[in-house]
Amino acid sequence: MNNQEILAMGQQYVMNTYGRLPMALVKGEGAWVWDAEGRQYLDFVSGIAVNSLGHAHPRVVEAITKQAHALLHCSNLYWIEPQVKLAKILVENSCADKAFFCNSGAEANEGAIKLARKYAYQNHGPEKYEIITAVNSFHGRTLATITATGQTKYQKGFAPLPEGFTYVPFNDLEALTKAVGPHTCAVMLEPVQGEGGVVPADPAYLTGVKRLCEEKGLLLIFDEVQTGLGRAGKFLAYQHYGVEPDIITLAKSLGGGFPIGAMLAKDHVAKAFQPGDHASTFGGNPLASSAALAAMETLLQGGVLENAQVVGEYFKDKLTELIGQFSFVKEVRGMGLILGLELTIEGKDIVARCLEQGLLINCTNVNVLRFLPPLIINRDEVDQALEILKKAMA
Ligand SMILES: *Cc1c(COP(=O)(O)O)cnc(C)c1O
Repeated sequence: MNNQEILAMGQQYVMNTYGRLPMALVKGEGAWVWDAEGRQYLDFVSGIAVNSLGHAHPRVVEAITKQAHALLHCSNLYWIEPQVKLAKILVENSCADKAFFCNSGAEANEGAIKLARKYAYQNHGPEKYEIITAVNSFHGRTLATITATGQTKYQKGFAPLPEGFTYVPFNDLEALTKAVGPHTCAVMLEPVQGEGGVVPADPAYLTGVKRLCEEKGLLLIFDEVQTGLGRAGKFLAYQHYGVEPDIITLAKSLGGGFPIGAMLAKDHVAKAFQPGDHASTFGGNPLASSAALAAMETLLQGGVLENAQVVGEYFKDKLTELIGQFSFVKEVRGMGLILGLELTIEGKDIVARCLEQGLLINCTNVNVLRFLPPLIINRDEVDQALEILKKAMA
């Protein structure tokens, strides 16, 4: 089938929840993807921060192939080696002590919300249930996570929403301090707001948030679904700040392209969950865990984190040069390979022109071009992307 035939069939049979671009992808390798008519694109979206090791990474492909022949699924009624090894890697490379596995970022955040409430219930009583999140945050599309998300556009039309969430402006410690009340049990933040327009937390803000949480007995939850696992240049983005959360949520790139999410927690917090309190049929199943184990081993052994930092800095410098060259380029933000270019105009036409020229990028928050290339990208590929971007902006 060609692009047009696939698109037409999709419009007839697939629910209309996405503003999709008019093409169908069929193949990927490294930082490149191909559409149904053989056109090649440089992929600076990476399936929205998912394909961090690039497409078809041989170690991930091999792990999936081997595991598919051995055991696809068996439920969490039994132990499996890839899941416990994956938990060990995540724990050893973070401040957390225990891992829970699920299938997506929203599900990881649902787990974090439940764990924070259960912990508060056991340690402080039933009056402590409220979670403070940030304006312009993004935490997922389930009912609880759209409510946690501090953007009304995701909530409109879905009332009644679950109770127990309040919002404060991001990077405003005074507002957060004032928002803490008798019902507050936790604060949930992204170290770099991704969907909200690539907005990093100020170091002094996160330090202040941590101090406040300690003073008031609140749990600190970091949603690292987008920023984690090397995307920001370190294994976890909070490691740039030296501020340790109590709960961390992960998904997107965890499985190297295969769907899997995780919720990590410190031991004293994780203890609030006992058998029967939380579960997921597919969570961390043999295939997902094997893919994620291979992806995490590759990420941690292969110089990938270093590459994300070094090439990320190179790319950020080059993007900064665009400020002088185009009057509508306002600011460059981000760290590692989560970078945003804020414009004074809407970004969607530039995204469309980049696509025509063979570069995939996306636009978030209307006027922020977001760049999420694979962490294995090289300078030459960054230069190629910049050439196309400049042509598209001219
Ligand atoms: C993508 C994202 C989510 C939601 O993840 P899904 O896998 O789509 O449910 C949650 N939080 C952040 C920060 C994200 O970027």
